[in-house]
Amino acid sequence: MYGPKNHGWIEAIVGPMYSGKSEELIRRVRRTKIAKQKIQVFKPKIDNRFSKMDVVSHQGEKEEAIVVENAEEILRFIENDVQVVAIDEAQFFDENIIKVINYLADNEKRVICAGLDTDFKGEPFGYMPNIMAIAEFVDKFQAICMVCGNPATRTQRLIDGKPANYYEPVVLVGAQESYEARCRKCHTVPKNNGVR
Ligand SMILES: [Zn+2]
Repeated sequence: MYGPKNHGWIEAIVGPMYSGKSEELIRRVRRTKIAKQKIQVFKPKIDNRFSKMDVVSHQGEKEEAIVVENAEEILRFIENDVQVVAIDEAQFFDENIIKVINYLADNEKRVICAGLDTDFKGEPFGYMPNIMAIAEFVDKFQAICMVCGNPATRTQRLIDGKPANYYEPVVLVGAQESYEARCRKCHTVPKNNGVR
């Protein structure tokens, strides 16, 4: 292998939906391939809505990924000579994601984690804040607010076209769900106990 060996570190790519996180992850994955570095890409098993084995950006670009049930399973798939480990949708992993990525970085892997930093309520999402804290490098991206055009840092959840309630269950059967990127001012989360 050419060039110096990585010392190991963690990079976090965060932001709301439509801010280009997956595009950026795919861009970094492609740069490592151009440099002939060995990379493995992982994502958590969430559901079957999207292509199972690919990290897919909204532009339809894709890279192959290994789908794992939990954070520890990543270590079972890691090949000895891998130099770069990319993890998409990192906000959906359990607390062991912190141990796993620290272990990888301590063992001279470059670790790239992409994910949502806040959920639809505008609150810190899963272990993403912890990943941002232990990462050497954090890139926080903005989208454009679909209401007013200012920089969007939040993900607006809409159910049947109306802002989702704070207490709305994550899975709603029979409702039309959609998401928009919004700024702090236009992000709306009614707290009226389930009444829309
Ligand atoms: Zn706005």
